[in-house]
Amino acid sequence: MTVGVVGAGQLGRMLALAGYPLGLDFLFLDRSEQTPGGQVAPILCGDFADRALLRRLAARSEVVTFDWENVSVEALRALGGATRIRPPIAALAAAQDRVTEKRLFERLGIPTTRWSPVGSARELARAVRRVGLPGVLKTRRLGYDGKGQAVVRTMGELQSAFTELGAVPLIYEEFVPFDFEVSIIGARSPRGEIAVYPLNRNAHWQGILRLTRAPCGPPQLQRRAAAYLRRALSHLRYAGVLTIEFFVRRGRLIANEMAPRVHNSGHWTIEGAATSQFENHLRAILDLPLGSTRALGHSAMINLIGRMPAREQLLEHTALHVHDYGKQARPGRKLGHCTLIERSARARDARAWQLLAELAPEIRIP
Ligand code: AMP
Repeated sequence: MTVGVVGAGQLGRMLALAGYPLGLDFLFLDRSEQTPGGQVAPILCGDFADRALLRRLAARSEVVTFDWENVSVEALRALGGATRIRPPIAALAAAQDRVTEKRLFERLGIPTTRWSPVGSARELARAVRRVGLPGVLKTRRLGYDGKGQAVVRTMGELQSAFTELGAVPLIYEEFVPFDFEVSIIGARSPRGEIAVYPLNRNAHWQGILRLTRAPCGPPQLQRRAAAYLRRALSHLRYAGVLTIEFFVRRGRLIANEMAPRVHNSGHWTIEGAATSQFENHLRAILDLPLGSTRALGHSAMINLIGRMPAREQLLEHTALHVHDYGKQARPGRKLGHCTLIERSARARDARAWQLLAELAPEIRIP
């Protein structure tokens, strides 16, 4: 049984690696063969929006999924009934545009930041009057890892932020002086089964995720985040894994964004949960029974960014699970990650800080 995956990045690669023990085959579609996914499964090379190529992918796959959220919605829609596309295209479309995403959160009663759409300098001034300062100006589409956004602290910074982000549709939202950030990940299958993972506590540096610890956070935060996620999963008649990221401010959850796919903050589940997010995504899109999301200990996941440490250096650490995505090194690029699991949160945190100081001494995480 073949799963077609649009996008052959590290997420696609980890999907394939999780699916092989289940007896699944994979076929990717991406712009280049030199991709993390292309190293572990066959690949159709071409543009993501190439309809003929998408049709070939669909013809050879039981179900088509995607490993990044900027796949052309129109191109997928044009496939018509040629194959099953999961997660649903409507969820993909909602997540691609920060404005539709905010509206969805509001419709579902999921608290989010105050915001206003911005299409011109005049609208920006109006948005700032309405939302207040400081704020964050973001592109509505194609933003990732902190790219396509600028913090605006004073009226004087408004014009430069507007010029910097260019003539694309924008959104202005309040700057949240959060205490910390969390994400919740869960899967839903078409038959309506839902499985939610323990809450992840995430630390970013220069807009990029560096460290995730899980399980984390007080039980009531976990319960509330899981309730919001369930609401979104049911409303969207979702199939697959969905992630929602939140700011936490004075014990309150404020939704930042959602991702209709497996997520970087869930990589710890490969070794740290009874069933990984990748396996549960596959189970969900194939309408198979979902696996337990129970944590097997206290996990910390550290992203390896810009430069891959020597394999020897990483493997010297006891029971450190190392993942090398096989990518060319480039500043700011996610090249791999490693996960450690301890018996207590305290032991995990101590080891995580030590490892972070060794692997990425330049970054500062409060
Ligand atoms: P995003 O691409 O929206 O996930 O933003 C990347 C990171 O920038 C987030 O994880 C936060 O650390 C920070 N950030 C984004 N939006 C805001 C905001 N409204 N207030 C404070 N920090 C933000």
